[in-house]
Amino acid sequence: MKAIRRFTVRTVLPESIAPLARLAGNLRWSWHRPTQQLFEQLDPKAWAEVGQDPVALLGSFTRERLRELAANQQVVTRVRELDADLEQYLTEDRWYQTLGADAPASIAYFSPEYGITHVLPQYSGGLGILAGDHLKAASDLGVPLVGVGLLYAAGYFKQSLSRDAWQQETYPVLDPDGLPLTLLREADGQPAQVTLPLPNGRRLGAFIWRADVGRVPLLLLDSNIPGNDEAARGITDRLYGGGGDHRLQQELLLGMGGVKALRVHQRLTGAPAPEVFHTNEGHAGFLGVERIQELAAAGLSWDEALAAGRANTVFTTHTPVPAGIDRFDKAQIQHFFSAGLAPDVPTAKILELGDENYDGGDPSKFNMAVMGLRLAQRANGVAKLHGVVSRGMFSGLWPGFDQQEVPIGSVTNGVHVPTWVDPRVAEFARSAFGNQTVIDRQWERVYDAADEDIWALRRTLRTNLIDDVRRRLRASWKKRGAADAELAWTDSVLDPDVLTIGFARRVPTYKRLTLMLRDPARLKALLLHPERPVQLVIAGKSHPADEQGKRMIQDLVRFTDDPEVRHRIVFLPNYDIAMARTLFPGCDVWLNNPLRPLEACGTSGMKAAINGGLNLSVLDGWWDEMFDGGNGWAIPTANPSTDAGTDDVFDPDERDDIEAAALYDLVENHVAPRFYAAEISEGAGAAGPSDPVGTDKVPHQWIAMIKHTLANLGPAVSAERMLQDYVEQLYRPASTSGQAARADDFAAAKELAAWTSRVRNAWGDVSVEHVDSMGITDEPQIGESLTVNAYVRLGPLAPDSVIVQVVHGQVTENDDLAQTSTDDLTVAEQLGDGRYLFTGPVTIDRSGSFGYSVRVLPKHASLANQAELGLVANASN
Ligand SMILES: *Cc1c(COP(=O)(O)O)cnc(C)c1O
Repeated sequence: MKAIRRFTVRTVLPESIAPLARLAGNLRWSWHRPTQQLFEQLDPKAWAEVGQDPVALLGSFTRERLRELAANQQVVTRVRELDADLEQYLTEDRWYQTLGADAPASIAYFSPEYGITHVLPQYSGGLGILAGDHLKAASDLGVPLVGVGLLYAAGYFKQSLSRDAWQQETYPVLDPDGLPLTLLREADGQPAQVTLPLPNGRRLGAFIWRADVGRVPLLLLDSNIPGNDEAARGITDRLYGGGGDHRLQQELLLGMGGVKALRVHQRLTGAPAPEVFHTNEGHAGFLGVERIQELAAAGLSWDEALAAGRANTVFTTHTPVPAGIDRFDKAQIQHFFSAGLAPDVPTAKILELGDENYDGGDPSKFNMAVMGLRLAQRANGVAKLHGVVSRGMFSGLWPGFDQQEVPIGSVTNGVHVPTWVDPRVAEFARSAFGNQTVIDRQWERVYDAADEDIWALRRTLRTNLIDDVRRRLRASWKKRGAADAELAWTDSVLDPDVLTIGFARRVPTYKRLTLMLRDPARLKALLLHPERPVQLVIAGKSHPADEQGKRMIQDLVRFTDDPEVRHRIVFLPNYDIAMARTLFPGCDVWLNNPLRPLEACGTSGMKAAINGGLNLSVLDGWWDEMFDGGNGWAIPTANPSTDAGTDDVFDPDERDDIEAAALYDLVENHVAPRFYAAEISEGAGAAGPSDPVGTDKVPHQWIAMIKHTLANLGPAVSAERMLQDYVEQLYRPASTSGQAARADDFAAAKELAAWTSRVRNAWGDVSVEHVDSMGITDEPQIGESLTVNAYVRLGPLAPDSVIVQVVHGQVTENDDLAQTSTDDLTVAEQLGDGRYLFTGPVTIDRSGSFGYSVRVLPKHASLANQAELGLVANASN
């Protein structure tokens, strides 16, 4: 019989163990081993049955069981200790508190998805996991972040396979009352609400749920509430569900509703107003429109509100794949804003924000990434290479500037170490280096560990993975319709002493899940190699609408189904956080073979690295900057350009052939021989790290690579490093700009807006009329200097509104300047009629071809970057 109503009864805990509610409610438990252990010890069997979910565990206890626990002195003591520990964690000064009073009091972070723990499945892949790690690292460092997102009724889908290996999707519906969330309520007990008007007199209301991620509150908007019509209730039904209007309404709710939710949170809790707004990917971009609306309602003009809003907004772009960027029809935007979403600002202005008014742009489209860039004074990509690629990709917004000047920087992603380090690795560090060792700050101590111990630890992790693989594989085959009697073979798949290579990620085409299948015979030979076999563990979800991705999964699974190889290669359905935490540590080698440069950063390889896995990867994303020759292997790229698609030397098929062959060669001739070195050279020499050919069955060179990886990559890939970069490079400068813009009733924002409009209007009159130079000898030498005179026309602008600049550097074959530096000239003479002579010295700082040019740029103290306004007047010949 089906229930016609359902509700969740909250557990009432006896007084002596009441703090368990807070320990379960604050998600710090998800990266705090002692708290997890407490829950496990309360009832190991129930803990396993509820899937390691503290709220569900407490809910599963009968009243008698709770009374027993409450009477158990040991339990009571431990609960109190851990509660006191949490209290200290939540209140003590941490890194951020050493920064001084000018550090922003609150930073709002908006993301469409959050991957924090398996009990709150609100993520689809890397973007969400990164957002989760961002919040956790902020908490650990004491950064006063507040997260904003949506609460999806079904999260992302669960993946299983049909008999013929076709991806099946299910969307289990979550019950918010059973999740570690609290509903924000008004003083009278009513749920707090935000509301957006919709066309045709409809409305979209949302409740605000709060998750506590350590010290960081995360506000999640939920449209499945009484008072909404059916369609409005469905807006937050699933992550990236639907397209078109559904998607647009999700993003309006996230951005505009998100700012409203922050204001409600401030009002109800006394939390400080955010001084910085961080837009994590374009999906949340409407937050900037809501802030402009707030300022316009307070009397600022569009230009003034835009200047003030931009000053403290940070935009992070996450993908160089155009299909990954949201674009709507302008007509859709017009339609929704006509309902009065932003009553004090002209819709035409909003439409301009997302306008693709550059070469190759579509005038009918509204581009969310473009809006993100226009609404943020500071922007970044997520790895150095991705910064380069993004500057190229969006250079159309800054015509007249060289790509390297496009104002998009980069902060390389990181991973939250306490979440992603296997408990056995953490325990190893604790016992090898003493109780006080915080794993993520003492990485170099790994050099003190004995090779044998590390090798034994690696085997333990591999074995642990294999146990999990066998369990999952059997379950998957049962779902695919196999009977138990047919499945005995699954109990012996994979071998704890065989080199284990992992590959798991979402399955968009550019990640090339099936590159390894390019030459099936070659792959088979690697798997079945008589002395140096490899085994592969593979996982990944395809977007439900991506048939090509599903076909790739099918091709791969069919290969793994072959009885000849199925003990050496497995595909595990339903890649998620829970699987990942066993998979990364268990693999000796983490494989990544995207089409360079389409992987913005990638983080799974980082998670492997902090557990002693070695990376085998195309030089894309983070690996491009962190591969150093000793921490893994680089799969060569057939097309080394960063400009995918345009200067390709090889067509995609040839390219896959070349790169797959390189991959097989690396595995066969470099990776496997090193892994099996100890076996081969047995008896050849004395044991010990100084002698790589040991007799102790330990591959010392392999272990040396592990130690090098941990010592060097550990600190570099940690999310704490990432957070500190964001704070120093983006949050603090943005907060300073924002404060300056707001001071004295927005005096600076108003002045900047007026100045910008004046400069834009006058810019057509600005030009470099003539340039000459003096002091150059017939055979110029390095170190000599010349005097450059530039005669410029500024029209109505005063000379202090501009920079007149010499750009000099190497001259390429087609007369482009490369490796440039700049020297500013000073005004020497007013020539009348809006014309000026600017002059100054330039030192020749290189041998070989040297050239220069002159340009005029707008200058204002409130600009964060010379290219910011996209205005430049370059000298022509
Ligand atoms: C880390 C992680 C990802 C992202 O990995 P990429 O290397 O960026 O593809 C996706 N899903 C899960 C479950 C993860 O843990």
